[in-house]
This record gives sequence, structure tokens and C-alpha cells, in this order.
Amino acid sequence: MKKYTDLNTSARILLGPGPSTVSPRVLRAMAHPLVGHLDPQFIALMNEVQELLRFVFQTENRLTIPVSGTGSAGMEALCNFVEPGDAVLVGVNGYFGERLCDVAGRYGGEVRRLERPWGDVFTAEEIEKALQERPAKLVALVHAETSTGALQPMEGIADVVHRHGGLLLLDCVTSLGGVPVNIDAWDVDIAYSGTQKCLSCPPGLAPLTVGPRAVEALHQRKSRVANWYLDLTMIEKYWGSERTYHHTAPISMNYALREALRLIYEEGLEKRFERHRANAAALWKGLEALGLQPHVPLDHRLPTLTTVLVPEGIDEGAIRRRLLDEYNIEIAGGLGIFKGRAWRIGLMGYSSRRENVLLLLSALESLLA
Ligand SMILES: *Cc1c(COP(=O)(O)O)cnc(C)c1O
Repeated sequence: MKKYTDLNTSARILLGPGPSTVSPRVLRAMAHPLVGHLDPQFIALMNEVQELLRFVFQTENRLTIPVSGTGSAGMEALCNFVEPGDAVLVGVNGYFGERLCDVAGRYGGEVRRLERPWGDVFTAEEIEKALQERPAKLVALVHAETSTGALQPMEGIADVVHRHGGLLLLDCVTSLGGVPVNIDAWDVDIAYSGTQKCLSCPPGLAPLTVGPRAVEALHQRKSRVANWYLDLTMIEKYWGSERTYHHTAPISMNYALREALRLIYEEGLEKRFERHRANAAALWKGLEALGLQPHVPLDHRLPTLTTVLVPEGIDEGAIRRRLLDEYNIEIAGGLGIFKGRAWRIGLMGYSSRRENVLLLLSALESLLA
């Protein structure tokens, strides 16, 4: 008879594009006894999760919830704002912009791509020019493009989108909890994230916030939302005052998210962003000293994820394997055009620590020697 041993995973140092290392406090929270999803204790917890999500998104939006599923479920929730034939403008400057086009197209959106080379970002002027040529009901951008390490500046963008009658949707999967995300100040209509990146929770929930313009558009739809599981017209009743059953909330994941958000609240947003900036700056300096150049210029380089080009003649996969086997460190290879040519190093949430930066740099130094 085959023997199945006790689970015995290594305590990896997760310095890739997600998942990031999870705080022991979050793991302990997940081990709490299960209550029912309509238990008054769980309903109180749901309210706290919503309050804390509004805090990290910097928003007053009532419809702010954790969608069941990973970050991609947050992206897929755009199905609520796209009907067949709707014009959708997507900024494509990396892998996740591509995925947004794919998702919007599957719901019948007439997708138009606004393209920049991988690693670049968009200006409000070029978005305005595109909308003057042809307006769009939805404009979708990636705030922190995890395939390249570029951070999209947000000044003036919502203004342009709204002037042309559209809604602005922002992918904040690799920014929320690591760099400033100011949903109300930027006037973003729809934003989503994932728990496994800078929130340092296991993968499994997708924080989502929907502003008043987008809620109105949702209620004015001509057709039913094409995805039953992600239909916000029903889900808002479960997370709203009615508490009407739609699907069973992932209870333990909500325990985890509450604890991860409580950690952010205790640390304070400004201090947390400063920690991410300082550790990223130390990483960049150390990489440059090793002759490794981050791909994205400093003025729009993302502190939570860095793409570095691999020097000629180095087998990038072999180095990653040795980092994992000999140092217990995970980093990632490149996606898309960077496949086989770059490493992606994440310093997200609980993983963004000075000792991790020093350990990775010294490991890379010995492996490259
Ligand atoms: C990781 C990521 C996603 C998808 O999240 P999953 O948790 O992998 O489903 C979407 N957008 C961006 C920018 C990401 O980095």
C-alpha cells in the first residue's frame, strides 16, 4: 500500500512575483475554527474586512469586497461592466494588459489596444488622443505591470476618461498594499487586486472596489451579467445589508485577509510604502553593483517588482534552481518577451525585508561568480 507522508513544505523565502511570504500571524488566523457563512460572528468579520479594504484602497466606495478567487477573478469581474458590442480601450504594455484584452473580448467587448513597448507606461495625452479617435465605455489599465516592473502614473488619467464618457478600471494586483493606491483621489471607477502579492496572504481572494459611476452603469445594464459566479448585482446583496445567499464565502481565507489587513493598518500605509521603497532601493543598488541592470527606468520603476536582464551566457533557469535548492529563495523567470532573458524579483508585503535583500544579493553574487 502506498504511504502518504505528512505534509512537509519548506519555509521558502518567496521573492518572486507572488505569492509572497505569509506572516505567521496570517497563517495562525487561518487555523481558527470554521463558523458558518451567515453566522453573526462571520458577518461582523465581513464588515471589518470591508472597512479595512476601504482603508487600503483609500476609498469610501460602499461596494468594496473580496471576490472569491485569485487576482484573475478580480480581473474577470470586468464582465460586470462589459456588454456585447461595448467599446473597451486597454493599455497593453506587458503580459497582464494582454490578459485584460483576452478577458474583455470573451464578454463581447470590442477591444481596442493602446500599445507601448514592454516596460513603458502611458500618458494621459495618448489616452485622450485614443478616445478622441473613438470613445470607449471602459478604459482598462494595469497600475503595476508584474511582467515588466513598470508603475503607471495616475495623474490626470481619470479626468480624460470621464470627459469622454468612459469608466476607468485599474488592475492593482501588484500595487495594493505595497505602493500608494488612492482610488478616490485618482477618481478610479473600478479597481481590483489579489491577496497573494503585497497583501501577503495566500492566493484565494481578489479585493475589488466599485465607485458610484460604475455601480450606476451596473444597474443600467441592458443584458444580464454573462458570468453567474461573479455577477455583482447578486454578490452585492450578500455583502450588503440583505445578506442574501449567493455562494459560500471562503471562510478561512477571509480570516486570513482580515489579519493581513490588520497588519497593514497597524503598520500604517505611509510607513509601509516607505519600507517597500527603501528595500527596493537597496536591492537596485546591490543588483547594479553585481552588473545587473533593472529593465525599467527609475522614474517609473516599481518598488514591489523588479525585472533584471540576465547577462549573456548565463543559464537563468539553472541559477533560479540553485537559489531554491541551496538558499531556499524563490525568484521568477521572465514572462512573454522576457522569457529566458530576465529574472523577476518581488519585494512584496512580508517579503519586503532588509535581511531578504541582503541574502538574495549575496546568494546571487556567489552563484554568478
Ligand atoms: C498576478 C497578477 C494577476 C493575476 O492574479 P492571480 O492571483 O495570479 O490570479 C493579475 N494582474 C496582475 C498585474 C498580476 O500581477
